[in-house]
Amino acid sequence: MLYESTRGRSRPVSAAEAIKQGIAPDGGLFVPERIPSLGAADLDRLAGLDYRQRAAEILGRFLADFDRPEIAGSVAPAYNTDRFGDAAIAPVRTAAAGLHFLELWHGPTCAFKDMALQVLPHLLKRAMVKTGETAETVILVATSGDTGKAALEGFRDVPGMRIIVFFPAEGVSEMQRLQMVTQEGNNVHVIAVRGNFDDTQSGVKVIFTDPDVNAILHRHGRRFSSANSINWGRLVPQIVYYFSAYLDLQNRGELKPGQAVNFVVPTGNFGNILAGFYARCLGLPVHRLICAANRNNVLTDFIRTGIYNRNRTFYRTISPSMDILISSNLERLLYELTDRNAARIDGWMAELRETGYYRVDAATHARVADLFWSDFVDEDETLDEIRATWRDYGYLIDPHTAVGKAVSDKYRATTGDDTPVIITSTASPFKFNQAVAHALLGTAEMENRTEFQLLEALAATTGLEIPPGLRDLDKKPVRHRTVIDREDIAGAVLKILA
Ligand SMILES: *Cc1c(COP(=O)(O)O)cnc(C)c1O
Repeated sequence: MLYESTRGRSRPVSAAEAIKQGIAPDGGLFVPERIPSLGAADLDRLAGLDYRQRAAEILGRFLADFDRPEIAGSVAPAYNTDRFGDAAIAPVRTAAAGLHFLELWHGPTCAFKDMALQVLPHLLKRAMVKTGETAETVILVATSGDTGKAALEGFRDVPGMRIIVFFPAEGVSEMQRLQMVTQEGNNVHVIAVRGNFDDTQSGVKVIFTDPDVNAILHRHGRRFSSANSINWGRLVPQIVYYFSAYLDLQNRGELKPGQAVNFVVPTGNFGNILAGFYARCLGLPVHRLICAANRNNVLTDFIRTGIYNRNRTFYRTISPSMDILISSNLERLLYELTDRNAARIDGWMAELRETGYYRVDAATHARVADLFWSDFVDEDETLDEIRATWRDYGYLIDPHTAVGKAVSDKYRATTGDDTPVIITSTASPFKFNQAVAHALLGTAEMENRTEFQLLEALAATTGLEIPPGLRDLDKKPVRHRTVIDREDIAGAVLKILA
């Protein structure tokens, strides 16, 4: 099975090539030329397997040029109890009848990015070997906070690879920042960029296809790849947990085989929810995919109107991993929903680049609105939701997950649809301790407390344990201090690689 570019101007490549290149040479995203399918018998069989085996099955369907030992050898070192704090890897917690939370944050960095970034380095290493690549790989990452740390943990000290992470200097939580600037490893670089995530992402994205920079790299025996969700190798592992959650609930008798569910996904770059879309295409009985946004509600507007307009105020919120106005992976959805009309996608993406705006045709919008639903919540609603979920269910959620829960309630109230719902819980509440402490303890209690005293206070109030990845961050030395302007990203890359 080959992978083709959503913009139709690059030739189709193998899965190994697609993972190695990260982004297609024409600036488009790689997508599988056809989507495999899993029938009822396949689901029955998967239900009897553990997370790692389910992952091997699903990855195997998409990565056709990887053999079984290559797939098994990639998932085994990723999904195990050395790396994840829960043997189920992605456990599902039931708060009430028909209300479930899929916890995607038991990995080393306490957010859902670990689900893919623990396995991606293993896939990429094998992709290099399979394609006869001898160049050193340079992973460039733009992060809104969580991807950067997860990629650093995944790629640190991997032979033949170097990783450079750019994060918005004014756009990440203190915990996220500390996780990154204290990163250890001999092949890691972490740089703050003045501006927001969109500035950082756009600045990094152009370097991948910049002919001059690539020529210099090539001369030094190096090449770029991406660990952002534009890389297919990031997306395919995310499809696994949609199946896994469903099958776990089926095994527990919470769902009958074939019964429809809704997934609610706190969304930024549209990577997580897109994996849910692919899961549905494969045959998972998903009724609606509910896209939950914060005040940066560009996707809510798009799903409602068919107009994508990034010309709007950018807000910094307490759910910073969703503070994004250019959702890269939407391009893949539009490709599928236009029956793979690359010329049209290319046109819309050019409009987005040039004017910050595009409008899809009525038929495409109808298909989007048929499957997706979206709403957004503001900061107060997010804090209220953290408080309410703790009060009503004794269940503690982080602000991103709280956005999901609040939008889930709005969906039910608006549509009356009472299909069972699985909310993807994307971060540990301890990772966003400021917002969670604010909601639970109140502002007065927070005064004069350090980040780490807040962690302790939260643990004391809730009886929950502080995850190991966060507990001792204040004792680690800061190893990365560089701050640059967006215009200097290419220069910074070349300087590191000189
Ligand atoms: C990355 C992230 C999101 C957004 O996911 P996308 O795939 O970018 O839509 C939501 N919540 C958390 C905690 C994240 O780290």
